[in-house]
Amino acid sequence: MIATPLTRVAEIVGGTAYDAADVVVTGPATLDSRAVSSGGLFVAVRGEHVDGHDYVDGAVRGGAVAVLAERRVDAPCVVVDDVALALARLATDVRSRLTGCTVVGITGSQGKTSVKDLAAQVLLRGGATVATAGNYNNELGVPLTVLRADADTRFLVVEMGARALGNIAELCAIAGPHVGAVLNVGTAHLGEFGSVETIERTKGELVEALGPDGVAVLNADDPRTAAMRSRTTARVTTYGAAEDADVQIRDLVVGRDGEPTFTLVAGSDSAEVHVPLLGAHQASNAAAAAAIALAVGLEVETIADALGSVVTRSAWRMERHVRADGLVVVNDAYNANPESVGAALRAVTAMREDGRVVAVLGEMLELGGAARRAHADVGTLAADLGVTQVVAVGSGSRPVHDAATAAGTASVHVDDVAAAVAWLQRYVREGDIVLVKASRASGLERVAAALLTEG
Ligand code: ATP
Ligand code: MG
Repeated sequence: MIATPLTRVAEIVGGTAYDAADVVVTGPATLDSRAVSSGGLFVAVRGEHVDGHDYVDGAVRGGAVAVLAERRVDAPCVVVDDVALALARLATDVRSRLTGCTVVGITGSQGKTSVKDLAAQVLLRGGATVATAGNYNNELGVPLTVLRADADTRFLVVEMGARALGNIAELCAIAGPHVGAVLNVGTAHLGEFGSVETIERTKGELVEALGPDGVAVLNADDPRTAAMRSRTTARVTTYGAAEDADVQIRDLVVGRDGEPTFTLVAGSDSAEVHVPLLGAHQASNAAAAAAIALAVGLEVETIADALGSVVTRSAWRMERHVRADGLVVVNDAYNANPESVGAALRAVTAMREDGRVVAVLGEMLELGGAARRAHADVGTLAADLGVTQVVAVGSGSRPVHDAATAAGTASVHVDDVAAAVAWLQRYVREGDIVLVKASRASGLERVAAALLTEG
C-alpha cells in the first residue's frame, strides 16, 4: 500500500483514530490475522462465524501496525461504523494516488480468475504487476486488491465478480479501470440475477465505467458481450475466433494432452501460442489476456512467449493428475454452471485417445428456475460428445442422469460423494479419463482425491 499515516486513514474513511501518533501504514490490508504483513493494516470484519475483532493480538504480533475496526481495540486503530464501506473509501483514495499504474478490470460469467491469472503473468513482462489473490473479487476483495498496489506497481489486474445489478459499477468506482475486459455473459448465478438480460447489463457496467482514454476488451465470439461496444466511449478491441476479431485465434488445435495451440493474429503481427492449460476455452482466455496486454502496449511475440510458460495459480480448475497406473483425473470441482460444464466436457473428450471418458457431474447451484432444464442439457451434451459413462451425483443431478440415459449413454445416479467414490473404485481402470465437476458446495474434489490415492 502507498504509505499513509493512520490519522490520514481516519480522515479518508471518516472514522476516529486512537493511538495513531506517528503510525504510518505501509503494508497491505488483510482480513486474516495470520496473513498480515509487516507495516500492514488489519481489517477486523465481523463474519457469520468469527469476529475479526477477536484476532487483533495475533495480527499485531504478525506485524500489523494498525487496525480498521468497528469498535476500539487494544492497538493503534481507526474506528468506523461500517468496515466494508471504510475499506472501499480507503481503496478509492489510494487508487487515485496510483498515478503510474494501469488498472485492468476483468468480469464475465466464466473464466475471470483464469484470465486474471493469465493476464497477470503476461503483464509481468511489462513491469511490476499486482493481481487479485485467488478469487477475491467482491466488495471486500476488490478494495483489498487495490490496497496491495504501491508506487512501483505498473499494472493492477482486478477480477470483478457480481451477483446483482450495480455490483460491477460499484467495484469500478473503487478500482477505476483503464482497461475493462468482459469475457462472456452466461448463466452463472442466474438464480440471483433473475435473467440473462440482467447479467448482461451488470457485466456491461465495466465498459460503461471506462473513459474515452480507456480500452474495452470484448469477446467477439459471444454476441451479448460483443454488443457491449455500444455502451462505452472507450476504444474497443475484440478477441476470439470470429473473423472480425481484432485479436484473433486462428488454426486452433487441442492436443491429446488437452492443451490448445493456435496462431495469435493482431493486425499484421502474429505468433504461435501454446497454452499449457486444459481445454479449448483456455485459448479464448489466453486471447483475452493477449488483447489486454496488447492494449497496454506489449508486443505479440512477448505475449506469445509469456503465455507459453504460464502456470495454474488457482486450484481445482481443470487440474490434470495422472495416477501411477496411468488413470487421468481432471479435477474441475471448483465451480460449475452450464457453460463451464460444457467447456470441461469438451476438454476431456478432446483428450481421449482410445480409452473411456467418465464424467462425474455434481449439482450446478444458483440457477434458480432454470436448474432442471440446465441439468438435463448437460446430460444430453455429455452423450453428444461421446462420454462413455456419466456418474451423476446428488439429487439435483438426477436430470443429468435421465437425459444422458435417454440420449443413449451409460449413466448412473448416486446420492452423494461417498457413493460416487465407491461406484468409481469398482469401475475405473488404467487408460480412463475421469472428469470431476460440480459447484463448490458439492465437495466433489473429494472424489478426485479418493481416486488419486487408489491404484
Ligand atoms: P467465479 O465466478 O467463481 O469467480 P470465474 O469466472 O473466476 O469463476 P474461473 O475460476 O476462471 O472462472 O473458471 C471456473 C471454471 O469455468 C473453470 O474450472 C472452467 O471449467 C470454466 N471456464 C474457464 N474459462 C472458461 C471459458 N472461457 N468458457 C467457459 N468455461 C470456462
Ligand atoms: Mg473467479
